[in-house]
Amino acid sequence: MKYVDEFRNADLARGLVRRIQRESKKPIRLMEFCGGHTVAILKHGIRQLVPPTVELTSGPGCPVCVTANSDLDKAIALARQPEVIITSFGDMLKVPGSYSSLQRARADGADVRIVYSTLDALQIARENPRKKAVFVGAGFETTAPTVAASILQARAEGLNNYYVISMHKLCPPVIRALLDSGETRIDGLICPGHVSAVTGSQAWEFAAEEYGIACVVSGFEPLDILQAIYMLVRQLETGEPKVETAYRRGVRSDGNLKAQELMMEVFEPGPANWRGIGVVAGSGLRLRPEYQKFDAECVFDIKPGPTIEPKGCICGDILRGVKTPLECQLFNKTCTPENPVGPCMVSSEGSCAGYYQYGNIQE
Ligand code: SF4
Repeated sequence: MKYVDEFRNADLARGLVRRIQRESKKPIRLMEFCGGHTVAILKHGIRQLVPPTVELTSGPGCPVCVTANSDLDKAIALARQPEVIITSFGDMLKVPGSYSSLQRARADGADVRIVYSTLDALQIARENPRKKAVFVGAGFETTAPTVAASILQARAEGLNNYYVISMHKLCPPVIRALLDSGETRIDGLICPGHVSAVTGSQAWEFAAEEYGIACVVSGFEPLDILQAIYMLVRQLETGEPKVETAYRRGVRSDGNLKAQELMMEVFEPGPANWRGIGVVAGSGLRLRPEYQKFDAECVFDIKPGPTIEPKGCICGDILRGVKTPLECQLFNKTCTPENPVGPCMVSSEGSCAGYYQYGNIQE
């Protein structure tokens, strides 16, 4: 398959592994920010391919996983309101909130529907003019422009029954928060490919310039990731941290200006609550005042109740890169993909789901 097979070539992968082994002398710790990278690394056994000097740890780059229970509880409380249709991407349905999940709310009679894009969510609003269609907007810079476009479309059509509950998050501010915390010790960052396609690789320059962190934007195929690791090793061995891109087919330095413009037309930065990390200023997106009629949190009276965290779940530690799923006492015991205790076991980009699925090749 074009653009896939050539990035899975075993000879080229072996060559890159040899180069990493040859160059890597001092121990380094690299964080792959993105859950998509975590799963690709697990699936292709990349942890086992790199030398012991290179430690890979996963980060907070799974939008479903980092959605705080307090935010998820709001969506579940909304689902229980009369005449409300909740639309959401599928992974979010199974995530357990403090008392229930969207899936359980649906089983109890709430109208909760899975959509594959905001176009589907808009169509549901059009087809149900007497109901209120609320889209659960959870995602990073990659998703937010499409949600912004849906709000502009709803306004252009005069749709008065389409709303968004915005749980969107911005990635660079949370990396800054992790680095400032002093708890997450890393030397290099495998920067997210899809997010960087929107923000541009320049979004990570602060990490190299202010924190001395080596940064390489990577794609999601095994050769992309090995190439990114090789470039990070080279930067760290020569002591020259900077921002490079190993994903030139998808990412430019200044990103996708049209998507950035769309996103900032409708949203403005605000605080966001990250699971396991807490509230980070400027790391979320809320609707601008002129779009508040589409903002579910402004329009509806939502009473989710006090937040309860899942007992024994260490998703927060995993998302901060300080523990692995294998250190969770519930992993593969009471917590499995069929019966998830926390979101990292639900999401297709979750570390725990990745370790569970590809556990046969783990240490
Ligand atoms: Fe949470 Fe389950 Fe992962 Fe443990 S294995 S951290 S309970 S999601």
